[in-house]
Amino acid sequence: MSSNERAQQLRISEIFYSLQGESRSVGWPTVFIRLTGCPLRCNYCDTEYAFTGGESIAIESILEQVAQFGAHHVCVTGGEPLAQKGCLKLLTELCDLGYETSLETSGALDISTVDERVVRVVDVKTPDSGESSRNLLENLQYLTARDQLKFVICSREDYEWSRSIIAEHKLSERCEILFSPIHEAQDPTELAEWILEDRLHVRFQLQLHKLLWRETQGR
Ligand code: SF4
Repeated sequence: MSSNERAQQLRISEIFYSLQGESRSVGWPTVFIRLTGCPLRCNYCDTEYAFTGGESIAIESILEQVAQFGAHHVCVTGGEPLAQKGCLKLLTELCDLGYETSLETSGALDISTVDERVVRVVDVKTPDSGESSRNLLENLQYLTARDQLKFVICSREDYEWSRSIIAEHKLSERCEILFSPIHEAQDPTELAEWILEDRLHVRFQLQLHKLLWRETQGR
């Protein structure tokens, strides 16, 4: 990366160290880089504070801050991180430095140009999110066994809709599928039982950080 690219600024809401609360890396100490801004407005969004504000920071300085935590895992999240062009450069630089790098993205923006070393955790927005019309289904063709598709389930209707999408696009053959009940709205036990009854090849998960720290920002 040239010095010009390292000087490129990204708008950052927060950089913090916590345990990864979801996905295949759940439980690992991880540095989170939360980029500001998101073009979606999901009904259940728990990071509305990241829609605006933040601070413009050069990629070089972001990397210096990340290094201070001495972690092996780094997660680039938002907001919607891919809404900022420089996100792609940040991801590549993190991979070059040897971090196990993941990206959490809404599924509404093109993922095809993300560095192939990055683990992409891509949402499929369900009807109850209010944003299912934003799903960019072209993204599905780029997913590999390294990646994960995440469905946040708010209701039985969401569950059935998700089950149909998985069958229609044969998604279980493509990558790991995560089903996560919306915190304090969808009963987790009920969702677990639906999955077992239907013999679905999906991975159930609870958001670990919410069990440990509830809604505390920066955790
Ligand atoms: S995509 Fe994520 S950050 Fe954006 S509104 Fe939805 S839940 Fe919030």
